[in-house]
Amino acid sequence: MTLVAQYKKVRNTIPENVTLVAVSKTYPSSVIKEVYDAGQRIFGENRPQELREKYELLPKDIRWHMIGHLQTNKVKYIAPFVELIHSVDSDRLLSVIDSEAMKNGRVIDVLLEVHVAVEDTKSGWDADELRLYLSEGKWRQYKNVRIKGLMTVASQTDDEEVISHEFRVVREMFKEFADEYFGSQMDTISMGMTHDYLTAMDCGANMVRIGSLIFGDREYK
Ligand SMILES: *Cc1c(COP(=O)(O)O)cnc(C)c1O
Repeated sequence: MTLVAQYKKVRNTIPENVTLVAVSKTYPSSVIKEVYDAGQRIFGENRPQELREKYELLPKDIRWHMIGHLQTNKVKYIAPFVELIHSVDSDRLLSVIDSEAMKNGRVIDVLLEVHVAVEDTKSGWDADELRLYLSEGKWRQYKNVRIKGLMTVASQTDDEEVISHEFRVVREMFKEFADEYFGSQMDTISMGMTHDYLTAMDCGANMVRIGSLIFGDREYK
């Protein structure tokens, strides 16, 4: 199947109310352009410099999302144009995004990354850490960031029970934080990738991040 046919096939599994982020990391601009020409406008990358280079080469109406772990000293590469940063996992990062956004005269939308998977990755807040952080209220001083929702990566397992449990935990946290702090400003639950996006949508995701199912296998992640 051609890339465009494969893209359309994936697209057709996703309802209107769910936003598809086409994860184009490691793929060249020429390949991204084919999917762009088929109608896709939101692309996700996980390396700031790669994201910046592609932004410069490709059409300016692409809405770029940063989905991977972000170091504070690299925020500057993407601050002028990024539409959404999915992977905010510390107060320090939030404060740097805020100041880079201010320098660029804009407000940057972000998601807070929650760590619920069994793997001991360094990305994401544990549920209780995040609860505590939000209750302390330090985030309220950052006027140039807008917290739009939560993002998560589920455990790497074929056990659907485990995965759907993790997604449901994040959906419950989303409701809790929206009620408590953010109201209707908080409207995005980013969860689900190639292997688990159908489960994620069943569990309340309204944004999915799909790479290899559209573009084919990557050489590295
Ligand atoms: C690479 C990546 C994806 C997409 O992964 P696929 O399995 O290729 O769909 C989604 N989210 C994050 C955070 C990623 O790093």
